[in-house]
Amino acid sequence: MEGRNRKRGVVEGFRVLTLLYYVSELPASAFQQLKELFRVYRAVAALYFWSKRLNLDEGVELALERAKLLVPSYYRHAFDEDSQVYQFSEVERMRRPRKVVLQLPFVDALHYHCGCYIEGGKLVVRLGNRERLELPLPERALRWLREKEDEVAPLKVTKIVRIQWREDKRPEYLKVQIVLRVERQKPVMPDPKGALLCYADANSDYGIACVFALSNGTETKVLETPKLKPPNRGRRLRAAAKRQAAAAYGHKRGINLALARRSTRFRAKGWVKAATARIFRKAFQRANGRSVIMNFDIPDPKSVKGSYLQKTLLSLRKVARNLANWFGVYATFECYHSTVCPYCGSELEMIYTRRTRIAYCRKCGFYDDRDYVPFYHWLKELGLPLPKHPLQRIELPEELKLLTSS
Ligand SMILES: [Zn+2]
Repeated sequence: MEGRNRKRGVVEGFRVLTLLYYVSELPASAFQQLKELFRVYRAVAALYFWSKRLNLDEGVELALERAKLLVPSYYRHAFDEDSQVYQFSEVERMRRPRKVVLQLPFVDALHYHCGCYIEGGKLVVRLGNRERLELPLPERALRWLREKEDEVAPLKVTKIVRIQWREDKRPEYLKVQIVLRVERQKPVMPDPKGALLCYADANSDYGIACVFALSNGTETKVLETPKLKPPNRGRRLRAAAKRQAAAAYGHKRGINLALARRSTRFRAKGWVKAATARIFRKAFQRANGRSVIMNFDIPDPKSVKGSYLQKTLLSLRKVARNLANWFGVYATFECYHSTVCPYCGSELEMIYTRRTRIAYCRKCGFYDDRDYVPFYHWLKELGLPLPKHPLQRIELPEELKLLTSS
């Protein structure tokens, strides 16, 4: 998907819907045909990939000839460098060809001879020789498609269908992904005065701390400071232990082991995606038609210690950049100080309470939740006045109460 020749000043955003179809539930003859298609495609794709990689022009030519002979026309786009379904743009960097993926354009039913299309609530995949595979689309998938296209209207969405199948997976299933892509001019920075400001800080120990604010240039008002936390991992681990114990007693061994594995493998990336989508949704709600400026403060990968959550949070950069491109929001990815006083520049002291880490300036008396300190520095950078502190009421420990009253 990434890595196609990008035009200058243009960004692309993607949304992906994944559907699973069990092979046992597919019409047998159509599935046989699909398998045959995979078999042919893999061989040609491998020849093409390695010839490209080794700079063997003859091999590339041979692969293209083979493709013309054996692969139905709409799947041949995979070998066309100008096509949006070209599969080999990262040939130098790819470890091996995507032999388990077939890609084809998703078109409207009026131009159905060009690829995949929807008809009567079904996704129709053309297999060559007039054969087709019809995959029922759940109502939520149709709704999702409509919603996503509305989100970026009047821009036009181009669609691709990716079909993945691995015969070594049990249970055997087809993974079908509908990939929506929008291309737009790179968003320019709106005037921070009057724009909805959103700061998302992933430096935090437990998740993402956000600040939503508005400023007219003389006063900055903080609207909301939600903190997003991933689901409780301890509970999942306990559930997994139970399953493993049951399996050890020989009770539905296979099923229990599989479920245990699934419980331990916390869907961290899925959480980051959902959390990022929530941040954007909230920003649009709060913006209420105003322009939006966002900054995602994500630690440098090199500075990240082995902590499991911290590593997860690194994927926030990619997810947030993609959504910003999709919606056309101006977003930056700068890190700001959390240990320097935004008012006087002194080093902040940290005081740990049971619930929060409070940053405190001994010189000027500034204090706030440490997670919000970078937001103040961002406002300064944008040339906006600082808000009243703390952003949210915090219960001060006795030692601080004494210091602030004196
Ligand atoms: Zn200070």
